[in-house]
Amino acid sequence: MYKFRKSEDRYFVSICNHCEIAEALTEFCRTEGIMAGEIYGLGAVNDVVLRFLNPAIKKYVDMEFKEQMEMTNLTGNISSKDGDVYLHLHATFGRADCSAIGGHLFTAHVSGACELVVIPSSAQLDRKFSEETGLNMYDF
Ligand code: FE
Repeated sequence: MYKFRKSEDRYFVSICNHCEIAEALTEFCRTEGIMAGEIYGLGAVNDVVLRFLNPAIKKYVDMEFKEQMEMTNLTGNISSKDGDVYLHLHATFGRADCSAIGGHLFTAHVSGACELVVIPSSAQLDRKFSEETGLNMYDF
């Protein structure tokens, strides 16, 4: 599902071809015991589900894109909710005509390579559902 190399304060992670990025990252964090931190990276994908939060109804609207795209950036953070790893991922994808789409990343399947950096933190970053926003917010 993934391969990685650890060096200094960070992990260099390669998500395997055809694997789903959010699932592989969650598994990686669970296995390495990473419950807080940051993520960035790039790659190529061919099946993406982006979500957009509609604040009026406090619900996510999902959109699927089945096409080859460059993942021009993935930015995310790692926290915890109910004792499990919780990832918050946003991403931008470049289409064949070099136009871009982006949003809250729900799922993305690698088509080629996916090269990420994960920087763990010892911070306590629990989340709790907020009725006000409809989001799982940091419980600070
Ligand atoms: Fe988000």
